[in-house]
Amino acid sequence: MSMADRDGLIWLDGEMVPWRDAKVHVLTHTLHYGLGCFEGVRAYNTSKGPAIFRLQQHTDRLFRSAHILNMKMPFSKDEVNEAQLRAVRDNNLDEAYLRPMVFYGAEGMGLRADNLKVHLMVAAWSWPSYMSPEAKELGIKVRTSSYTRHHVNITMCKAKANGNYMNSMLALNEAIASGCEEALLLDNEGYVAEGSGENVFILRDGVLHTPELTSCLEGITRQTIMDFCKELDIPVRERRITRDEVYVADEAFFTGTAAEVLPIRELDGRLIGTGKRGPLTEKLQSMYFDAVKGKREANSSWLSFV
Ligand code: PMP
Repeated sequence: MSMADRDGLIWLDGEMVPWRDAKVHVLTHTLHYGLGCFEGVRAYNTSKGPAIFRLQQHTDRLFRSAHILNMKMPFSKDEVNEAQLRAVRDNNLDEAYLRPMVFYGAEGMGLRADNLKVHLMVAAWSWPSYMSPEAKELGIKVRTSSYTRHHVNITMCKAKANGNYMNSMLALNEAIASGCEEALLLDNEGYVAEGSGENVFILRDGVLHTPELTSCLEGITRQTIMDFCKELDIPVRERRITRDEVYVADEAFFTGTAAEVLPIRELDGRLIGTGKRGPLTEKLQSMYFDAVKGKREANSSWLSFV
């Protein structure tokens, strides 16, 4: 089914618009130059009905992205939160992937981008699993990308900017073409940065390590995992990591809203640890699934009920 040809409603600039009518012109500025920003958000079904996971954190990041790109948000954070809740509610979804996006319209062309209007859309649809369900148990096969992750002074890495994803797509499609399921991108100095749409963690001798926030995105799932580690008394170090440290790690996993907590079984043909999901990965995965599904009282403030 085409993404454009569906029943339902999309929130566009303050109104719920029939799905098939939520269109923009071919001269839409963001379509030409990639300057825009977006979020990937998820709602899960809980015993008290559908709830969006860490909605406020996603909205805050969307506003930070827009600020970095110098786009003036035409709505308040409360309005953007409400738009996301409405996109799930009005489409009668029990669980959903949400895509808020901030983009320039077709009010003008050229790189000056003056006199352009900032638009906002929020779509929500059912998208149950980003990777195969088996991947969550068995882990995935990953290759180090031949593409370098963005340098901090080339594109703005703290912005979840549309144009940044050209690099992600080149890396992911290269990985898939070589028989892997995901890419691991290194930064311009050769240190591990992140996956095409995930942050990365490795476990060595009881300590969890993750790249510092230079060229990788400030992941909300990454933060969630660090919150769990505090609770479990597992030390987490944010630092530079080399690719061969991943080869010799006891466990490795990716984190992201779409990928959730995903074990890495193999990098560049080398098995990681025992080549299966490790015990800490499994523990963090189950804490994550319990939290998103409202089964962890301690994390109930992370849920926004639809
Ligand atoms: N890095 C990149 C490049 C991403 O696209 C994502 C997904 N938004 C992440 C990391 C993980 O971020 P989050 O946990 O907030 O989804």
